[in-house]
Amino acid sequence: MSHVYFDKLDVLTRIQGTLINKTPLRVGVGRVLTLGSSMDIAVLRMKLGKDNVPYIPGSSLKGALRSFAESILKAQGKDVHSPWDFNKIDEEIKKGDYCLICRVFGNTGIASHIRIYDAYPEGPVFTEIKTSVGMNRDFMAAHPGVLYTEEYVVPYTKWKFMMDVINIWIYPKPRGEEGELIWTLLSALREGLIQVGARKTIGYGLIRLEKARYVVYEVKNGVLVKSLEGEIHE
Ligand SMILES: [Zn+2]
Repeated sequence: MSHVYFDKLDVLTRIQGTLINKTPLRVGVGRVLTLGSSMDIAVLRMKLGKDNVPYIPGSSLKGALRSFAESILKAQGKDVHSPWDFNKIDEEIKKGDYCLICRVFGNTGIASHIRIYDAYPEGPVFTEIKTSVGMNRDFMAAHPGVLYTEEYVVPYTKWKFMMDVINIWIYPKPRGEEGELIWTLLSALREGLIQVGARKTIGYGLIRLEKARYVVYEVKNGVLVKSLEGEIHE
């Protein structure tokens, strides 16, 4: 979303692991109003080779981390604005003084320090379809009483997770507020506290990061070198 890029790279940390959805998962709410009065909400898919496979867009994962970060800061009594509060964002850009969330996640004036890649399945993916009647406030409050089918990925599906953190130190020790925040988010992800996708109010989309590893690359004398790597325990 951000069109601002870093002109200087000091440190890049790549985190990889396996994401597991512990509850049913549906991302990218595809709404199709079909003939009759049935409304179908399908799981988002991408063509990979011959197959159309469900995946979790990096932007959805980033959004999930962002809202978790917002809730942490709110709990600390800090001022948090929504990503769509463009007045507030313009004000920050004019002052050149960005809030912690914008410093980590970026806005139209400052580059994001986090890049999360689309997560593709590690193996076969099974989905199920549930038919419901009534109002699903997650998608369309304007259609009460409509019969609709909802597709979701079954629990315990595995996905490949990859995330880069740019110019913020997290390992071996987090540095600054930004490093601390990302460290906290990674802990929450590993504890299975973060939700992604639709139907969060009924517990859908709870994800957990397992087998996580990090690699730290540093720029030394103009050359990118691997300086540290390990498993994420904490
Ligand atoms: Zn901000």
